[in-house]
Amino acid sequence: MSNAKLSTIVKATVDALAVAARNFIKPERITIYYPYEKLEYGRMRGWIGLLTEKCTSCMLCARICPTNAIKMYPAPNTKRYPGIDYGRCIMCHFCIDVCPTDALYPTPIKELAFYDYKEMIYTPDREREPPKIQEPYKSVKVAIKYEGGIPKKVRLE
Ligand code: SF4
Ligand code: SF4
Repeated sequence: MSNAKLSTIVKATVDALAVAARNFIKPERITIYYPYEKLEYGRMRGWIGLLTEKCTSCMLCARICPTNAIKMYPAPNTKRYPGIDYGRCIMCHFCIDVCPTDALYPTPIKELAFYDYKEMIYTPDREREPPKIQEPYKSVKVAIKYEGGIPKKVRLE
């Protein structure tokens, strides 16, 4: 083995041991203690609201949806209103963009959690009522930033 190759192996080993020692003394944890720590989502899109009084049942939203997440439900007034399956929705918001009457609207609600798949299916009635998100007593916002290729958790005030 050449000296150059040997020194590369020694350097890589020492670097790896240094990282292990650093993390042993001061662990860099980037997992989040949800809900007491919350990730700053930035421009991520949120839950979609529906104003049935503005909906003309044109079905453009259902047609444009790339994941077939929208189903039109018959209403007693003979119209059809969209409901969204959040098990399929990828939050692209194409449905909001295409809606000619602004019957669908974006919300800042991003923390959706469900106990089972049936809960993910929002009928028009449920789509009208923004879900209530329970806030913990105290939480801090955090972001993941990369320094020299290494992820670090940064506390945001
Ligand atoms: S946000 Fe995108 S994926 Fe979700 S229902 Fe609308 S069009 Fe479909
Ligand atoms: S695109 Fe808008 S108006 Fe048309 S069915 Fe969907 S929600 Fe209703």
